[in-house]
Amino acid sequence: MYTSGQSHNNAASSHTIDLRSDTVTLPSPAMREAMARAELGDDVYGEDPTVNRLEAMAAELAGKEAALLVPSGTMGNLSAMLSHAPRGRRVICGDESHVYRYEAGGASALGGLIYHALPNTPDGRLPLDQLQEALQPAYDGHEADPGVLCLENTHNRCGGTVLPPTYLAAVQAMARAAGVPLHLDGARIFNAAVALNLPVDRLTQYVDTVQFCLSKGLAAPVGSLLAGPAPFIARARRIRKQLGGGMRQAGVIAAAGMIALTEMVPRLAEDHAHARLLAEGLATIPALQINLELVQSDIVRFKLVTEQMSVNAFLAGLRARGVLMSGLGGPYIRAVTHYGISADDVRQTLVAIRQTLATA
Ligand SMILES: *Cc1c(COP(=O)(O)O)cnc(C)c1O
Repeated sequence: MYTSGQSHNNAASSHTIDLRSDTVTLPSPAMREAMARAELGDDVYGEDPTVNRLEAMAAELAGKEAALLVPSGTMGNLSAMLSHAPRGRRVICGDESHVYRYEAGGASALGGLIYHALPNTPDGRLPLDQLQEALQPAYDGHEADPGVLCLENTHNRCGGTVLPPTYLAAVQAMARAAGVPLHLDGARIFNAAVALNLPVDRLTQYVDTVQFCLSKGLAAPVGSLLAGPAPFIARARRIRKQLGGGMRQAGVIAAAGMIALTEMVPRLAEDHAHARLLAEGLATIPALQINLELVQSDIVRFKLVTEQMSVNAFLAGLRARGVLMSGLGGPYIRAVTHYGISADDVRQTLVAIRQTLATA
């Protein structure tokens, strides 16, 4: 069983409230135990029974034929793009997407692909009219053909917004008609599933392949899974090897991953409730601006709108009061709730914000 909040966080007033990301989560006691006891083998030989069990569990959950454990979400997305598309093709994605902004240009640098970024809407979608056009094949020798289409759910930079099944179905229909594979960067797909109160395969059924992270809100220390058709996963396994992601006794990681998938998913609802609590508190503070409709999961994105204080000074003031958040560029700030953040932490955060702003 998970415990609500991590043990080192129990001394309510003295610990740091780290809201920079859900990647700062530490493994649960059950994960530590499972890691210590994991049955191991050499996974590059396909002989780690714990990895094999995790991959089978992930494929089943996502409703796909096969799955592959990779060290990170970035490697999962990169392996997917390279497995889907030969060199010289276009990766169609959002201009606020993680694959475009935060993965060091890997698909171009290592896969010879070009990014075709469409303007994301504030809730993390791609506009369907522009998508329709982008999916068309080259009409002559001047243009690059589409290679793969990437969606992101929940959408990180758009503030954890959720793509619902209706939208996913519409995109799937367009991608299928154009013959372009659809990959989902589902780093936080379980947050989307919990927010919609749907099993995760109700979302992944609309995409050909999906990557999801174990190491964010699900609190495992390392690892992501890529799921899709068996031949796609076989190619991705070879690409993982080329990228240096073939791990040996990776069952140590997989053991924590299985706890992440079996025990940590339902508790994401708690993180969403805490994000809502934080967002509603922020909405009452005049120096801040927030669109409550876009707070849909564990991410709270808001804007500092006072002339009296810079974002850097605001973040430093919070830090001095034991609260960490991250700047997103310009006036935008991000706070993420997660395993280890309690409702009390949220209340303390709101106090720290009011104190910080009072120093302006
Ligand atoms: C974190 C994240 C990734 C990449 O995961 P890493 O394990 O940090 O490489 C990919 N996509 C999204 C939307 C993410 O938030």
